[in-house]
Amino acid sequence: MLRLSGVGVSNGQAAGPVVRVAEPLPEPPASPAVTDPGAEAARISPAAQAVADGLFARAAGVEGDAKAVLETTAAMAMDPSLSSRAEQLVNQRAVPAPRAVLEAADEFAESLRATGGYLAERVRDVHDVRDRIIAELLGVRPPGVPTLLEPSVLLARDLAPADTADLDPDLVLALVTEEGGPTSHTAILARSLGIPAVVAVRGLLAGTSAIAAEVDGDSGAVGLSEERVEVRAAERTDTVNWTGSGGTSDGTRVKILANVGAAADTAAAVSARAEGVGLFRTEFCYLAAEDEPDVATQRAAYAEVLEPFAGKPVVVRTLDAGADKPLGFLETGAEPNPALGVRGLRVAFDRPEVLDRQLAAIAAAAGDSGADVSVMAPMVATPEEAAWFSERARTAGIARVGAMVEVPAAALIAGELLEAVDFVSIGTNDLAQYVFAADRQLGALAGLNDPWQPALLRLIAMIGRAGVETGKSVGVCGEAAADPLLGRVLVGLGVSSLSMVATAVPAVGSAVAGVSLRACERAAEAALAASDAAGAKAAARAAFE
Ligand code: PEP
Ligand code: MG
Repeated sequence: MLRLSGVGVSNGQAAGPVVRVAEPLPEPPASPAVTDPGAEAARISPAAQAVADGLFARAAGVEGDAKAVLETTAAMAMDPSLSSRAEQLVNQRAVPAPRAVLEAADEFAESLRATGGYLAERVRDVHDVRDRIIAELLGVRPPGVPTLLEPSVLLARDLAPADTADLDPDLVLALVTEEGGPTSHTAILARSLGIPAVVAVRGLLAGTSAIAAEVDGDSGAVGLSEERVEVRAAERTDTVNWTGSGGTSDGTRVKILANVGAAADTAAAVSARAEGVGLFRTEFCYLAAEDEPDVATQRAAYAEVLEPFAGKPVVVRTLDAGADKPLGFLETGAEPNPALGVRGLRVAFDRPEVLDRQLAAIAAAAGDSGADVSVMAPMVATPEEAAWFSERARTAGIARVGAMVEVPAAALIAGELLEAVDFVSIGTNDLAQYVFAADRQLGALAGLNDPWQPALLRLIAMIGRAGVETGKSVGVCGEAAADPLLGRVLVGLGVSSLSMVATAVPAVGSAVAGVSLRACERAAEAALAASDAAGAKAAARAAFE
């Protein structure tokens, strides 16, 4: 057995035969030149259409997030600018069609990469579409997950959303990837399917002839075997306790909320019986916008998201532009370290009128929808900044105002911060990256971004204590809240609301419902005393046994 280790991002143990996700195809050659460029170019659009048709057919068989992912990828395959650029390359240089698709898609990907940040993450989707069209032109098997015939452990370099959107959880025992981190697509997907997953496993794909694997999603241990192993599936989290009303078994109230980015996400949040929205990422409405949308346009966009939550709490975050999510109309110029630059609330200090217009639109949309709306600011660093934001939000007519705690300085001074606002919400994704000085997008630093790191837990404990002392609420809306075991620990640290990807709501809600507050506190104490992330997780698990 070859023993490897990575970062466990979805809990549970499983074992079984391995299936490798097909690696990208070799680069199609530019020669020999084609003799009939017109006929060669004419093959491209039908191939792209065939890829789109295949993805639409898969989309027809599924619902929710999976459907949206497959339809988005299909639409990208049908993008006429990609096909026409590839046709142009064939006509100009007589290169074979697969080569032209490669070059055209790479040009497109390069322009997205140059835009940076969140759009740069879509490069993965462009490459996926490129490889599917090339495979279609070559008449070979497309990259991605092959059809599974028996329960299997999937091994991959990384997974694209379209690779995994319609995976059958009954046939996937576990996911293991060489790249990716705790907030990667693989991690979010595995938690939503309730299957164990380990990411950032160095050496996973290097020259092994393993036919079976053992995976421990808690510790991050992966064993690869050249002989068969006994097939074991992880116990699925029991979600029957999720009644739609969050709290511990002894009646401590814990709100179980969903994170949404646009109107398309709200159906999943409602069907998961989220009690409301703990993080509405408004910048996701405008990632492609060149100009600032006017107040009426913003009001309509926000009202569409708020309407399904009439009478329920919704926390609207003001634009978190910059770093991984640049917005065309809030450009701050080139910065050597965008994650440490003018981002989040900092953008508003120079352009307060943009913030004021957004607050006016949010206040109006709250009235239109009947949702119980609060606002919060991203990337707050000092109590003074929190007070500045709070004043403007109240002037706009929004009664409940909060601040995100994503910067370590804000965590250290949480008590004073809470004097300036009504609540705080901890963004563990950014808080981890800043506490450890480790880029949250880098697979190589995934271990430092593990939300079970005791240093991060101790900071959260400080914020939780400040909440208890001031009698104000402390929530968590980073990916940490989507882990059922960690969700219990967060409650033990004083957190009173958990907001997460909609698919995790039933599992986290029922995990919290199954234990008392005292049990959560004991698990939290055990996790805080650990010296590393794996130790913290193991100690918390043991505390509940
Ligand atoms: C976070 O940083 O944890 C968070 C919730 O905000 P985002 O992921 O949008 O940066
Ligand atoms: Mg953040």
